[in-house]
Amino acid sequence: MTDTHCPYCALQCGMSLAPGTEPGAGGASGTPSSVPDGGRGAAGSAPDVGPRRALPLTVTPREFPTNRGGLCQKGWTSSSVLTATDRITTPLVRHSLLTSAGQDAGAADLRDDPLVPASWDTVLDLVAGKLAALRAEHGPESVAVFGGGGLTNEKAYALGKFARTVLQTPNIDYNGRFCMSSAAAATNRALGADRGLPFPLADLGGADVVLLLGSNLAETMPPAVQHLAGAREAGRRGTGGLVVVDPRVSATAKLTDDGAGVHLQPVPGTDMVVLLGLLHVVLAEGLADREYLAERVTGFEDVARSVAVWWPERAETVCGVPAEELRRVARLLAVAAPAHGGRGAYVLTGRGVEQSAQGTATVTAAINLALTLGLVGREGSGYGAVTGQGNGQGGREHGQKSDQLPGYRKIDDPVAREYVANVWGVTPESLPGPGKPAVQLLQSLGARPAAAPGAPARGGSPAAADVPSSAAASSAAPSAGVSSSAAPAVAPPGGAGARTRPRALLVHGSNLIVSAPNADSVTERLKSLELLVVSDFVPSETALLADVVLPVTQWAEEEGTMTSLEGRVIRRRRAAGPPGEARSELWILAELARRLGTPGETAPGAVRFPTDPAEVFDELARASRGGVADYSGLSHARLDADEAASGPGFFWPVPATPTSAGPSASAEPADRGTPDTGPAAAPAPADAQIHPGTPRMFLDGFPTPDGRARMIAVDHNGPADDVRPGAPLYLVTGRVLQHYQSGAQTHRVAELERLVPEPYIEIHPVLGFRIGVPDGARARLTTDRGFVEATARWTDAVRPDTVFMPFHWSGVGSVNRVTTDATDPISGMPEFKVCAVEIAPVPDGVPPGSEPGTVPGATSRFPIRPESAPTLEETPA
Ligand code: SF4
Repeated sequence: MTDTHCPYCALQCGMSLAPGTEPGAGGASGTPSSVPDGGRGAAGSAPDVGPRRALPLTVTPREFPTNRGGLCQKGWTSSSVLTATDRITTPLVRHSLLTSAGQDAGAADLRDDPLVPASWDTVLDLVAGKLAALRAEHGPESVAVFGGGGLTNEKAYALGKFARTVLQTPNIDYNGRFCMSSAAAATNRALGADRGLPFPLADLGGADVVLLLGSNLAETMPPAVQHLAGAREAGRRGTGGLVVVDPRVSATAKLTDDGAGVHLQPVPGTDMVVLLGLLHVVLAEGLADREYLAERVTGFEDVARSVAVWWPERAETVCGVPAEELRRVARLLAVAAPAHGGRGAYVLTGRGVEQSAQGTATVTAAINLALTLGLVGREGSGYGAVTGQGNGQGGREHGQKSDQLPGYRKIDDPVAREYVANVWGVTPESLPGPGKPAVQLLQSLGARPAAAPGAPARGGSPAAADVPSSAAASSAAPSAGVSSSAAPAVAPPGGAGARTRPRALLVHGSNLIVSAPNADSVTERLKSLELLVVSDFVPSETALLADVVLPVTQWAEEEGTMTSLEGRVIRRRRAAGPPGEARSELWILAELARRLGTPGETAPGAVRFPTDPAEVFDELARASRGGVADYSGLSHARLDADEAASGPGFFWPVPATPTSAGPSASAEPADRGTPDTGPAAAPAPADAQIHPGTPRMFLDGFPTPDGRARMIAVDHNGPADDVRPGAPLYLVTGRVLQHYQSGAQTHRVAELERLVPEPYIEIHPVLGFRIGVPDGARARLTTDRGFVEATARWTDAVRPDTVFMPFHWSGVGSVNRVTTDATDPISGMPEFKVCAVEIAPVPDGVPPGSEPGTVPGATSRFPIRPESAPTLEETPA
């Protein structure tokens, strides 16, 4: 029996894995124990990806503080993913690349070539040779890297180190940009540190009120609902309640029924107005915690002035939430706050409010509300963001972000550069500067010019970073009354590589063709690359487009660590051997580094890429020492020993010395640690590894220059792509319980696929009747960026002015073909959650995905427009 955690979301539910009792047992999910590894085929061809194999695993829920013995359907069936029928078990390469003629051909010429098996030496030599040639001809910026929020801490760390020391490219970012970047930017700016929940999840249970904005956790992480029981009970007692803000009557919104709480159903894209209205009421009715504000906060007066114009009746005209409901919720929150003798209140945000062109500002408004009520940094109350991806927290701490070095250090901080360069054995000067955030990075790919994003970033040029450096943070201080649109981007876009288009891309743990906004334009960018290398364990849509596919180990086949949504560092353990020739990314990066050399090293061979995850973690811990996310007091052995003793686990920061505990009340860490000399560094002090970790942050102050939280005035700008004639409906996107992210994993689990086999469009019956789209009929949503088709589902869970579509599918049902790639100016977060669309029925007999113009729209009030031609834009040379 192997104790580990679920491979999917950030709740990281505890589970145990055991071998099946006999071939065919298949574990809890009934997965066949022996399955063919035949591929689905690349671009019409069927790659031979290896022999049949057997790998049955039984999943048993395990008691762990986040899930308390519960699992959702995804967790129960998670072992099936390992035995996916099309698991990739050998390296694959486009056939022509194995010939010298093919290697000279352009990538576009190779896309119709079949992917064929090849040896590791062959593909690694080929990839290293092409990368070296591109770097020699076009410079280091010609190679880009894209990581993922599902990678272990060790892999994320190694990927960032590889990009900065071997490739020496600034062009690295990851799909966490699509997930947590707005909350990260806002919390860094306001509180001085970003840990999704700066308190244990279980703390929610003791509160009278939980205000949940834009999170449908009843579907995305069902076991977490247990932690809302206290607030729901308080609702029934009349002393509090669960408050859910969501334009849909989601499964989570339904938890407020029967007196358990309140559901506010705003117009999509107006959550900010709800928050401004709530804060107006708190101030107008004298409910603020004045003592807390005086002692622990700066910027309050500016914020108070800014919300004076958002009286509830005015807010109602914009967000549609009745003024009396806003007053009721503001009073509920205040009564639950410690200042008024309540048991506590929490304000939580999720992707629904964060994936917005004003996401950072909206989270800032949520933090302003929490600070005004005196909730943050108090036991039993607080503000937090509900992280989504499995390692969405750890993945953003250790260097795969464009602006970041390990330990949540800023890459443009000279002291941080020197420290980390020492750990890595390179010179600080050899490290590149900040790169581009994900959307801008993807649009910059390829030698040919990119199509322009669907809409510009708010506030002008695209953002580059979501973690303010100390200087930038100071400039963003609230005294200036910075509004959301005027807030400065904290680093210049593009960094050193802004003028060179990446011609090669290495993708790890991301399925961009399905998960990126304005996905068709991203697909075109990927097709224009000279080399696309995808490391994956199944042939995702992105892998099937690659020139080279590297088979990797996954979840129960690997050792490592993850960091949960509450900042708890946990162990992932191996329960099965790797299939076929699959290898860990740690090994792949080490092999590529060996072939490419490390041009910035201070001594030959100084830059090492260990392949043992425990050794990588030890190095990560050293590199993080003194940073905001300080793991230096941890090791695999310490984590294992704590778990064996049923300990509480460790929440970062966990510094190696107790005297350097956690983010201090200064902009820079109080103790950066002695500059480390890398792998040969002296061992940690004798009193190391005794720090207990930091379950609750900010109790004694905020890690800001003056130790106070910063309130920052923000205002409402509305969606970047708002409704208008010709695009009269809001499109809202989201998830379903049975599928995870792009669906690359869960579509391969028969039980889940059977339950939700295809995409759908939720529309209100009134709308369906008006436009002639009956329940169960096919409908088409169209924007300037493209169109998407799916089956209509009539439901009064959506507003009549809104349609909803889940985003887990590719092809004509891939909703990210129409979502906007407008981004938040500070975080770089794309506005996935809302855009304007028109809808029309698709008559019977019309083939799916038929080009616009061939679909009769006679019964539609909103006839289909032809797609507008993309605007091409040349990046300055
Ligand atoms: S809630 Fe998340 S971590 Fe828990 S079983 Fe479901 S997918 Fe896995």
